[in-house]
Amino acid sequence: MARDNILLVDSVHKSYGGRVALNGASLEVAKSSITGVIGPNGSGKSTLFNIVAGSLRPDAGHILLNGRDVSQASPADICRQGVGRTFQISRLFSELTVLENLVAIAHGLSDHEAVERAMGLLEFLEITGLRDKWGRELSYGQCKLVEIARALMLQPTVMLLDEPFAGINPRLQNRIVDHLQGLRERGLTLFFIDHEMRIVLGICDELYVLAEGQVIANGDPAEIRASQAVREAYF
Ligand code: ADP
Ligand code: MG
Repeated sequence: MARDNILLVDSVHKSYGGRVALNGASLEVAKSSITGVIGPNGSGKSTLFNIVAGSLRPDAGHILLNGRDVSQASPADICRQGVGRTFQISRLFSELTVLENLVAIAHGLSDHEAVERAMGLLEFLEITGLRDKWGRELSYGQCKLVEIARALMLQPTVMLLDEPFAGINPRLQNRIVDHLQGLRERGLTLFFIDHEMRIVLGICDELYVLAEGQVIANGDPAEIRASQAVREAYF
């Protein structure tokens, strides 16, 4: 059976001044999969995400979303085409409540519809208790959950998550894992970067390992665990 890819990254190059961040990286993300990217610090993971999300332009290579070339598209275009994202560092508004943070990014909805959708997401993520808290009052872990809720407000078909598990306790990590699996069951594609090997190896259908701006290995978690190249570069 042919693979149904929602996202294709084809030979992407990106340098900052003289520093090469991506050096011909290629990968595929299957529809409704959980696909992970791991790699040492500085290997180009965030650069890759920023290029897919349209925040950075590749120097060479292409990004295909549902078969369409979006290499030169703006972040707003990419968002309209169904790509949602969370950031490594929270971008919630500190002077708005959690509910307001969610409602503020709704597009084309009445206030009533936006509040309904926001409440549904807070329920799904089991954080209705945070509804009226100010952005500035949230703990680091709470921010991560609210960021996920906020990205879901736009009903993406693909979610990019930059280090959703970094710096939070194992109990909350496990809750986020459950939620991500729930989202995948609803048909969402999840594409994430993380360092937490326990989680990455546990949750992903497919993994890509980046080192020095190139994919040095890919496969399912068992294949990655067994790969000599990965061991040498990463573990
Ligand atoms: P990762 O997310 O895997 O840690 P990054 O994509 O952030 O990797 O960085 C890849 C390389 O590009 C690193 O060498 C980093 O120092 C460099 N880099 C990233 N962002 C910038 C920038 N804005 N300006 C200059 N160099 C950068
Ligand atoms: Mg990074």
